[in-house]
Amino acid sequence: MHAALKRHGVWMIAWGLLSLLGAVLLARNALQQEREAFETNARIAHRLLSQQVVQHDAVLATLALLDANDDSAHPEQRLPSVYPHMLSVQRRARAVLWPDAHLQTLDAQSRQLGHGLLVQTDFAQGRYELMLGALPASYLLKIDIRSMVPWREWPMAPNQGPVRVALVYGGQAFDLQPGRQVPADAPGWHFDFHKVLASPSQPFEMVAQRHVAWGELPWLWMLAWSVLAAALLRMMWVLVRQRDDRHRAEELLRLGQVARLNTLGELAAGMAHELNQPLTAVLANTQAASRLLDDDAPDMQAVRHAMTQAVGQSRRAAEVVGRLRRLVEQPASTQPLQAVSLGDAARKSLYLMEPELKRQQVVVTLKASDVPCWVLADAVALDQIVHNLLMNAAQAMQTTSKAERRLTVAVEPTHSQARLLVQDQGPGIPAEALSRIFEPFFTTREGGLGLGLSLCETLAMGMGGTLSAKNRTPHGAEFCLTLPLAEPTAAAL
Ligand code: ADP
Repeated sequence: MHAALKRHGVWMIAWGLLSLLGAVLLARNALQQEREAFETNARIAHRLLSQQVVQHDAVLATLALLDANDDSAHPEQRLPSVYPHMLSVQRRARAVLWPDAHLQTLDAQSRQLGHGLLVQTDFAQGRYELMLGALPASYLLKIDIRSMVPWREWPMAPNQGPVRVALVYGGQAFDLQPGRQVPADAPGWHFDFHKVLASPSQPFEMVAQRHVAWGELPWLWMLAWSVLAAALLRMMWVLVRQRDDRHRAEELLRLGQVARLNTLGELAAGMAHELNQPLTAVLANTQAASRLLDDDAPDMQAVRHAMTQAVGQSRRAAEVVGRLRRLVEQPASTQPLQAVSLGDAARKSLYLMEPELKRQQVVVTLKASDVPCWVLADAVALDQIVHNLLMNAAQAMQTTSKAERRLTVAVEPTHSQARLLVQDQGPGIPAEALSRIFEPFFTTREGGLGLGLSLCETLAMGMGGTLSAKNRTPHGAEFCLTLPLAEPTAAAL
């Protein structure tokens, strides 16, 4: 029964491992998908923002190029009405100075570098100013960051999404979308994206961040997989059980066939004994009848009586022969002796008997060391003896109360021999039967043949061993099979 627990444990561990493996793969897959979606969205957002800031450069450059040196036209003043994120555009005409020296310096620098420069960034207000120094006129563009974002093409839901997107510059950050706020050390997975916008004049860093919490893992799928794994393993378990049962049934059938074959020799000896008596009686009666018929006035009454007796005895003999015919199918064969593990033989017989013992609710204990105890035996004959002893023990305990149905099989090596003990908690063997149970045809069981034990003894002796029986206290029987130990060299073969 310990083995059954062990088997269950193995299935449970297999289920646990399979569930774990599936869960890890599902979680990994989900996280990978989240990461890919995050990175794709972040790249799209970065491209859209870069396009916007590049557009600012282009607008300023176009203004500078198109400047017709006509201070009255002021086409730049119409820009805010076309591009709402361009809050204002200031123009510094040739020979006019900017109101402050800082602007003047930036103007000169910008002209030297040939591209726009940031004048100031006010991320608290979500604004910044961009200047392009050029001749004949320089321009100063004031931009509103929030309205510069092309929200219609934006790849994420700006207010509900879990991703935070911000523009970072000079220690200031402007959140374009807040995302889900979590502490930096929150358990889970953090995805990060940092990339500077593609304009040298507005080198803002776009930062995207996403936190995936444990709760976002695909727990339902994991659970479904675990249930599926349990169902799959259960199916496998049933298949293995079916294969085991088939194997067990085949073994029992084989054992039954061998038993019948081996019984032949035993039966022949028994038959000689059984047939001898009726045949002697037939002979005596027919001889008596023949003598009576020789008389001058034969006593027909006595002749008839003798013949009736002879008929009766012949019938008995015919019955014995009939029984023999039913049992015999093929002649028995004798196998050479070899090194056999006594413990394994006990285990095998217990395995074959397992369903029967379970059905009878017999608690089984096997006391055998893990180190094999090698004996010199005919493996098939040994199987047959152990099987017979177990069957007898199980049958003996049919009348025992269920709580007491205990069967112990012990394998014990002695100095030159090994013993196999089969102990039951049945009623034991009646004192008057103890000396006769190994006789052929001795049985106290209804329907019993009385050949099992006599056959077992013959087989045991054929292998140089012995089979004995005794009663146990307070009740029960113990059968002891001894067999010679195999040579260690033989055992290794
Ligand atoms: P069968 O089982 O056909 O009776 P066996 O040779 O196996 O023939 O057994 C002979 C007899 O020995 C049984 O009828 C029974 O009386 C007795 N016997 C065998 N095993 C046990 C046992 N474990 N406990 C009590 N009696 C037993």
